[in-house]
Amino acid sequence: MTRSERLERIQQDITESTKTSGREPGAVSLVAVSKTFAADDVAAFAALGHLDFGENKVQEFLQKKEEIDRRLPENNLRWHVIGHLQRNKAKEIVGKTQLFHALDSVKLASSLNLQLDRIAESMDCLVQVNVSGEASKFGIDPPDLRQFIESISEQPNLRIHGLMTLASPSYNPEDVRGEFALLRQLSESAQDLFFDSTRVHLSMGMSHDFKVAIEEGATIVRVGSSLFGSRDYSANASR
Ligand SMILES: *Cc1c(COP(=O)(O)O)cnc(C)c1O
Repeated sequence: MTRSERLERIQQDITESTKTSGREPGAVSLVAVSKTFAADDVAAFAALGHLDFGENKVQEFLQKKEEIDRRLPENNLRWHVIGHLQRNKAKEIVGKTQLFHALDSVKLASSLNLQLDRIAESMDCLVQVNVSGEASKFGIDPPDLRQFIESISEQPNLRIHGLMTLASPSYNPEDVRGEFALLRQLSESAQDLFFDSTRVHLSMGMSHDFKVAIEEGATIVRVGSSLFGSRDYSANASR
């Protein structure tokens, strides 16, 4: 399939799942996860009119963004940082990120807030929640969520719009339906704490499980390999 066919197919699947789960048309947006893929690939999707891209590593994100900005000076791409961020990298992403999906500690929140002060901007964020309980995963544990959001609410430059999660690896996406449902329940019980409680965002679902995530209430799905092809991590050891 060509890029255009892949993009169209994913968009059709999103439209279909949105409809069959009784949700409003346009309720779900697509972030194309371009990690490990070249600026060329991003530029090709941009030429098809796709604007939202997700990256999980700061260095790779900055290099790719810089290359795209050089080649397409007038571009209006929206970059999403979707992976764990070290505090000392906070200054690298402020002012360059449409939505930060991986807020996972009070210390990171204060570093981001401080860096945002310096450039007099605010930043839209989602809190990452560890719904699967795997020790290897980043994210706030569900029982601690309310208190976490309350404790970062004094950081005035961060606008918390909702939650993000990575479900457990699964062969059958039905196996992680409960994890997506849990994220939605958590967002409902914390609704009063979000920046805009009438429009809470849930970033959940990837290539193999985004349909189930949409059925459970995702408003943003993060799709990489189904759009770009399979990733070759060995091509660059630093990735
Ligand atoms: C890589 C990645 C994705 C996309 O995964 P695919 O299976 O390639 O669709 C989504 N979210 C995060 C946080 C990722 O790191």
